This record gives sequence, structure tokens and C-alpha cells, in this order.
Amino acid sequence: QHKLCMIPGPVEFHEDVLEAMSTPATSHVDPNFIPVFGEVIEMTRKVVLSQAAQPIILSGSGTLGWDQMCNVIEEGDEVIVTNTGYFGDRFGECLETYGAHVTAIRVPVGHRVTVEKVKEAFESIKKPVKMITMTHVDTSTGVLGDVKGIAAYVRQHSPETLIVIDAVCAVASEELRFDEWDIDVVISATQKALGAPPGLSVVVASQRAIKVYENRKTPVRNYYSNWGKWLPIMAAYEARKPAYFATPAVQLIYAFHVSLSQILAYGIENRFAAHREASVQFRMALAHLGLKPVAVDETCAANGMTAVWYPEGVDAKLVAQMAGQGVQIAGGLLQPHAPNYFRIGHMGLSVCDPNRKHIKKVIDVLTASLSQLGYKA
Ligand code: PMP
Repeated sequence: QHKLCMIPGPVEFHEDVLEAMSTPATSHVDPNFIPVFGEVIEMTRKVVLSQAAQPIILSGSGTLGWDQMCNVIEEGDEVIVTNTGYFGDRFGECLETYGAHVTAIRVPVGHRVTVEKVKEAFESIKKPVKMITMTHVDTSTGVLGDVKGIAAYVRQHSPETLIVIDAVCAVASEELRFDEWDIDVVISATQKALGAPPGLSVVVASQRAIKVYENRKTPVRNYYSNWGKWLPIMAAYEARKPAYFATPAVQLIYAFHVSLSQILAYGIENRFAAHREASVQFRMALAHLGLKPVAVDETCAANGMTAVWYPEGVDAKLVAQMAGQGVQIAGGLLQPHAPNYFRIGHMGLSVCDPNRKHIKKVIDVLTASLSQLGYKA
């Protein structure tokens, strides 16, 4: 039996998205499929609010977006990783695989990285910094990064540094303006606020990032992720022409086409507003129950998910208790704190449904389960 999936991704998707997955076997160069992929590329660009950036949509998960940074990183490059949890650690580890020299900016759990800390990091590195990464929402802590503020600082003080955003848990739920904020790479995946099943890596790269790839001195040490293979394929689909490097996930592209169409029909600004509103509603319900988010204040609380400390006397049994009542939430992820908190997703369909019945249900089942476990609000 299906449990309402309220983890911070994969999240519930629309039945039309599910139906689009059941397309019969279709050639990846079928004249009916080519324009669908072409439109997926165009709609992805619109969702991140860009005019000219290059979407690269590959079979794979969000992690493949990190790996694609092998296209711009060369041995010994300096990289600053702003780290607000588990996914910052992992992103840094991935970049080191490709020879980057990583300086991590760490902050206490639940806090965001400030512009001041970024300034200090730039000052401590005596060489040019090739890239700075930010996790827009670290899904392990529910901390929302200051992408706008940090990007503005970096662009002014180190104009050549590539600004790379891990927005796996943020695209289509958190305010993100690719062109206006002058971002270089956005990394995402389909299974969160983008509203489709897992299985597609969604990267959007600026023309500046592509230039850095084109001017690199050493070969890319990765085969599948190599932009040299994929850029002509993306261009071909967008020009409604057949092309092949590796088989796209045809049915997922159909599904993603439906979810992107829904997102744009709803309106991207309306999405930002709806997620803000729903997250306030959700945190008010938590406060009412006497529960505390991991994110230390409203300015750094994600709008698409919340990590919450277990109250006195409650532990990970809460996850099973809620699952028994048809709602799947997630446990903690960031060690050594993982046993002390849980995580709930409130994004995409669950937020854009005018009745917000998923949100109401998760709050009701949370309230009942806490009480069943002996907790008194
Ligand atoms: N970054 C963030 C912020 C994430 O939330 C996730 C997935 N939870 C990833 C990267 C990795 O994505 P995937 O699991 O799809 O490989």
C-alpha cells in the first residue's frame, strides 16, 4: 500500500506525471520524442530563470551533477565549498576526486555560511579560486544558503570564480534567479520540487562555465560526464534534430515534460511564494507542538523541507510510528546528530495543491504519533 511520501525527496508527483511514464517503447530519435526532449531543455532553462544558459539533462541522479564538475576542474584548482551539512561534505569529496584543492567553510549545525566567512576564505587562499560551491538547501539540515548574497560578493570580488549551486533540493521550491544573480552552474535532479521520479540529472551551465570547459588545458578524466559529448546532443534536441551519444531515459523525459509544464503553468514566482507560505504554516504547526527546527532561525530555514529535533522522550521510533499510519518521513542524516532529528519534505505538488492536504495529513499524523509515543505538547 502506498504511503504518502513526505521525505525531502523523492516526493509525491502528479498522476499525469505517472501516466506519462507508461509511454510504450519509443526510439530516442523518434520524430515524436525529439521535440519533447527539446521542450524539456527549453522549459528547464525557464524554471531557473535564464535566457541563455545551457541545460544538460542526463540519465542519472543528482550526484551525477557533482561529477559533471570534472568538466571545469583541473588538477590543483582551488575550490571553496560552503558547507552546511552532509551534502557539502559529499560535494567536496567529489571535487577532490577530480584533483581540486578544497577549502571547506564549516559552520555549526543549523547555521548558514555568511558573506563574512566567504570573504575570510578568499583572503586566506593566496591563489585564484576556480570555483565556489553552495548547497542551496542542505537536505541533511534544512538550512537555506544565502545564494544571492554570496554570489553578489563573489562576482564583485573575484569575477572569474565559477559560482556553482547544488540546488538538488531547491530548484522550483526556493527563489533562484540564474541570470539576475549571475550563477554559473545549477545542479539538480528530478525527484524533488521538479516533480518527477528519480533518474534524471539536471544541470544548467552558464556560457562562462562552458568557456572554462572549452579552454581547459588537460583532458576531462571522465567519459560519460564529458560535456564535449553532451553539448552537441543537447543542441541537436533543442534544434529538433536526432542525435545520439548514450540512450536518454525516454519515459523519464516524458514524465519530466509533464511536470515542467505544470510548474510553468503554475508560474515560477507563484511557486516561490507558495513554498514560503507553506513552510511558515508548517513551522507554525511545529512550534505549536513545541518542536524545534534544526535551522536556527527563519532566515536560514528552507522553504521546501524542514529538519526537526526530536523532543524530549521521543526518538527514531517516530518514523516507524508515522509510517504505520500511512505517512513516510525521513530520519536524520548528518552524523553524529542523525539519531536526534527527523526530516519532512513540503515541496512540489504537496504545496501547490490549493488544499495542501498532504501538509495537513503529515501534521495530523505527526501530532497523533507524538501523542501515541507519550509526548505531551
Ligand atoms: N545534493 C543535495 C542537496 C541532495 O539533497 C541530494 C539528494 N538528497 C543530492 C545532492 C544527491 O542527489 P541524488 O541522491 O539524486 O544522487
